[in-house]
Amino acid sequence: MGRRQTMQEKFKQQMKAYRKKRMKVDNTPFLPPDGEVWVMDSLNPTEKIKVEVLKTKTKQHREIIVNLACPVCGNPMEWDSRWEAFICTKHGKKAIYEIVEKD
Ligand SMILES: [Zn+2]
Repeated sequence: MGRRQTMQEKFKQQMKAYRKKRMKVDNTPFLPPDGEVWVMDSLNPTEKIKVEVLKTKTKQHREIIVNLACPVCGNPMEWDSRWEAFICTKHGKKAIYEIVEKD
């Protein structure tokens, strides 16, 4: 009885830690091996746009994107994990750029 409860407690704690860890996972995109980043305007997804990578940082031995240049105004955009996109608020209304595959 005592042992069983201990195992259950242990399991619960592990699940709790696991969920916490998952929520903390940073979904910032990695820089592709060729360094080319293409985005699509979420509100007007008509064409893929190649954007300039302004800043990256190394995380877990891989390069992640910190800032992309906005394809409209050129200002640095930051990753928004809630939108899972890069956001620009510098040129009129909010623009949301999702990373897309080149092909
Ligand atoms: Zn902009």
